[in-house]
This record gives sequence, C-alpha cells and structure tokens, in this order.
Amino acid sequence: MTRVFNFSPGPATLPEPVLRKAAQEMLDWHGSGMSVMEMSHRGKQFISIYDEAQALARELLAVPANYKVLFMQGGAIGENAIVPMNLIGKTGKADYVLTGDWSQRSFKEAQTFGTINIAATGEGDKFRSIPKQSTWKLDPQASYVHICSNETIGGVEYHWTPDTGSVPLVADMSSNLMSRPLDVSKYGLIYAGAQKNMGPSGLTIVIVRDDLLGHALPITPSAFNYQLQAEADSMFNTPPTYAIYIAGLVFNHIKAQGGLAAMQVHNEAKAAVLYDFLDESKFFYNSVAREDRSLMNVPFKLKDESLDEAFLQGAADKGMIQLKGHRISGGMRASIYNAMPIEGVKALVAYMKDFEVRHG
Ligand code: PMP
Repeated sequence: MTRVFNFSPGPATLPEPVLRKAAQEMLDWHGSGMSVMEMSHRGKQFISIYDEAQALARELLAVPANYKVLFMQGGAIGENAIVPMNLIGKTGKADYVLTGDWSQRSFKEAQTFGTINIAATGEGDKFRSIPKQSTWKLDPQASYVHICSNETIGGVEYHWTPDTGSVPLVADMSSNLMSRPLDVSKYGLIYAGAQKNMGPSGLTIVIVRDDLLGHALPITPSAFNYQLQAEADSMFNTPPTYAIYIAGLVFNHIKAQGGLAAMQVHNEAKAAVLYDFLDESKFFYNSVAREDRSLMNVPFKLKDESLDEAFLQGAADKGMIQLKGHRISGGMRASIYNAMPIEGVKALVAYMKDFEVRHG
C-alpha cells in the first residue's frame, strides 16, 4: 500500500495513525461487538465517545466554561444561514468583513435575515490582503461582526484578532480551527466544518458564548437552533456519530503530539518551506501580502500558465495530488493542514525546483 501526499483543501488528508485505529476498531469497538456506525447515539458506548470528543475539543482549545461546544450538521455553508437566524434577532443588523470567496458567500446568505453591512472589504486589493482594522466601519448597533479567519481559496489568514468591543465577533474557522492556539474568549461564536483539520465532513463544530443563546428568529428550524441543541447536548437530532468518533481520535492524536502549540510550530515550519521557495523562484509566485499569508492554504501560479497541466501531471506521477487551484482562482493551491507531514511539503518543493530547472 502506498499513500499519496494529498494536498486537497477538504475533505483533506487525515493522520495515518487515526485511520489505522479506526480500521482496527471498525467491526468491533472496544468489545462492544459493533462498529461505532451501528451504535445508538443514546447508548452508553456512544455517549462515552461523544463525551471524550467534547472534553478533548474543550481542552485543546481551552474553551472557557461560559461557552458551549455543539456538534452539529449542515457544514459551514449551513452556518452561513444558521448564524444570522440565531444571532441577528437582537437588532436586526450585522457587520460582515469581506476577505475572499468564503466571506462573500457568508455575506450573501445572511442578507435574507436582516440588514447586512459591509464593514470592510479587501476587494480593492483583489483580496490579496486583510483590510486593517483601522479602516473598518463598524456599526455599534450590529448584533455581531462576521469574519472568515482563513480564506481557503484565496489563501489569506488573520494573524491577529479583531477588536469589536461589546459587539460579538463571529468567525468561520473552517480551515484553520485546531491549527494553532486560540483565545476563544475574544469571540462570541466560532464555527467550522470538520473536514480540514479535525475529521471527515458531516460534522460542524460550533463554539458559542452562553449569552448569545435564546435569540433565534421564529423561523429557525429546531435542529438549527443553538439553544435547543445546547439543551440537548447536540442530540436534538441524531448527530453525525461516526464523524464525531473520528474527530475524537484526531483530537487525541493532536494532544499526543503536544496540542495546538505543537501544531503551530509544525504548521509554521511547513509553510516557511513553501513560501521561502516561492519568494526565491522566478518561475512560480504567490500574490498574497506577506503578513496575511495563510499557513493552511498556499495558492501559487506558474508564470507560464501553459505549463499548468504538465506540472499537475508530473506531480501526480510522483504521488502528489489535488494541487489544482480552485476553479475561481485558477493556478495551483497546496493545502497543508495539520495532518500533512513536512516530508510532503519538502517533496513538493523538490519537485517544483526540478520542474523549474527542466522548463526554465
Ligand atoms: N468556509 C470555508 C472557510 C471553507 O473552507 C469551506 C469549505 N471549503 C466552507 C466554508 C464550506 O464548507 P461546507 O461545504 O462544508 O459547508
């Protein structure tokens, strides 16, 4: 068996020891005689799996006691509607900061539910940088301020936390939650699909401050009402049980490696290998402002786009896949989440150097 280096933006590569453990436990979890997939979500075996995943998520992220961690379904695109339905009721208004494709999608979806103001946009700079907070026009009457902490397509990431005063800060952290330590207390709500750094798709993690519960618009479907989910320990409906189990294994693996501080060191080292090469290359380039470059998703282009196909084919021949950029942006993109080993990034850079010599 040979595993590829999978640079997919998500669903993404998972730690091999996690996959091995899941394979080992597939038919009979801990002597229960069942697969986790076959368990009742209300049975004691699954409740123990759920409780462990919850406890590890809280421990890794140092989640304060006045926040709930919900394990929901619907993905981050679902949350684009679920967030305003639950939070906008206070004043009917919300502020959105646009930094690329994902925050633009959040902004568009929210418009159904209230008055949505663009507090800042990076569009003038073609979304190659994050607008400085000094340029943001925040409305003190907004129910919340929404950001996307890492734009998976454009490759810009916040390396600072906005200060929104008493207005709750809401962040789509789909592509960087669990990649580094986080001060949860600076946010009112954080949401993320699991399929980048945490597990398979199907599980959406929502971390919400207690005082933001209980303001849902009457149209909110019950399964997407944070308060009802919080009261039911995320079991108002059947939660994505197998995805929660895998996320628990991933959290254990992260903890064993030294937690989120260790993930940050590992992710910075990997990103440096790739960006240092891109900055020196006369053949490949990345256009994002240095201080806003993502540690997770590194978009890059070949100066001669006619070589794109040859580049991708040569990479695939060497077992490096999913490097084609998003259809919106073209070019290439290497997604290098927690589970991508540094060997994968070094192999990619070695291939890029060789490609440059052969075609330069
Ligand atoms: N937001 C961000 C930042 C993402 O990267 C993605 C997925 N690539 C989404 C939202 C959408 O996630 P989903 O398709 O799971 O709803």
